[in-house]
Amino acid sequence: MGGLPDVQSGPCAYPRVGLGASRSQAVALQQEAAVRTVIPAFMSIVVIAVCHAPAALLAQEHPPIIDMHLHADLPPYDVPPGTPALCRPEPCQGTGRATADHIETLEKTLEAMDRYNIVKAFLSGVDPAIVQRWVAAVPNRFMAAPFILQPGRPDPEMLRREYVAGRFSGMGEIAIQLNGVPPNDPALEPYFALAEELGVPVLIHTEGIGPYLPGFRSAAGNPVLLEDVLVRHPKLRLFVENAGYPYRGEMIAMMYQYPQLHADVSTISWVIPRTAFYDYLEALVRAGLGKRLMFGSDQMRWPEKIGEGIEAIEQAPFLTEEQKRDILYRNAVRFLRLEQDPSSACFRWQPLLPAHHEELTHAQPLSDRPRDRGGSVARGLPRVPHLVLQPL
Ligand SMILES: [Zn+2]
Repeated sequence: MGGLPDVQSGPCAYPRVGLGASRSQAVALQQEAAVRTVIPAFMSIVVIAVCHAPAALLAQEHPPIIDMHLHADLPPYDVPPGTPALCRPEPCQGTGRATADHIETLEKTLEAMDRYNIVKAFLSGVDPAIVQRWVAAVPNRFMAAPFILQPGRPDPEMLRREYVAGRFSGMGEIAIQLNGVPPNDPALEPYFALAEELGVPVLIHTEGIGPYLPGFRSAAGNPVLLEDVLVRHPKLRLFVENAGYPYRGEMIAMMYQYPQLHADVSTISWVIPRTAFYDYLEALVRAGLGKRLMFGSDQMRWPEKIGEGIEAIEQAPFLTEEQKRDILYRNAVRFLRLEQDPSSACFRWQPLLPAHHEELTHAQPLSDRPRDRGGSVARGLPRVPHLVLQPL
């Protein structure tokens, strides 16, 4: 990725919040809605201040990372606090301790994000209210998306309103395979059509493994089942959990044949034996797909898995430093169409609706615009919460 410097130094290195601040951010979730509207404004000030602070104050110990697979309130079944993480194959002993609730998950997730300099994360959860609370707690750091477990829920037309309003900017994880539904089921068609129309990136669980749920079917996760979707929606920005593990040949076929298709390496970085993960990752990289793989943690209720997944990639003996940076950061920057302003190096999200891009970037300075209570641009434009609302 020539011309795409890591944002680890310079005038707009990502403002690390600091471990001590994470708890107070999480506690802010419990405040009244009126209080929550103040937090984005406050954080915007912090971002502005840091973007203009001397570079020497912003030295980063770790180059930036984007987590393409983060959850606010999963898995979709009860896990007693302290339960070890999932592992495969049985018999095996999971490690870590499940958090007690989503607030503890947020606290510990933010700690890991700070420690590893995760500057952005693709975030989904079953309860959209919880996802929005995470976004409100740390504005501009999460890319919010609905978790879809059953076709029809949430309703695609309701989702359209959420995208236009700017409350969501990604789709998925689409996890209908957990109920045995394959990705080419006609019931999913309205979701793919909507995502293609709006240019929304989509994460789908299409692979051979998943949680032990009665409806789960490995056969419904064969990546070749994506072919109908990819043919029907050539502009769909789709990425597949765990690169379809362990359907290696099928996934390579799909990625060769459909250049728009991307994949994350997420749960397999910690849920299966390290040797099995490395075999799979090395095969994909040797097949030439290293520019289309993106790191994700899929941390669910075990935030310590975020660091474990990152270290698995950083320690992979067969990856060059360049390939590690691609997987941990640069491929996601390209896939998400993140921009970097040459004068400030600050991130800006590409607006969801391209028609509004010109208007947002060429209208009067943002500081002169009327804003609604959430701090977004008014005048009938869609809210674009991930656009950095600051003079650049
Ligand atoms: Zn997931």
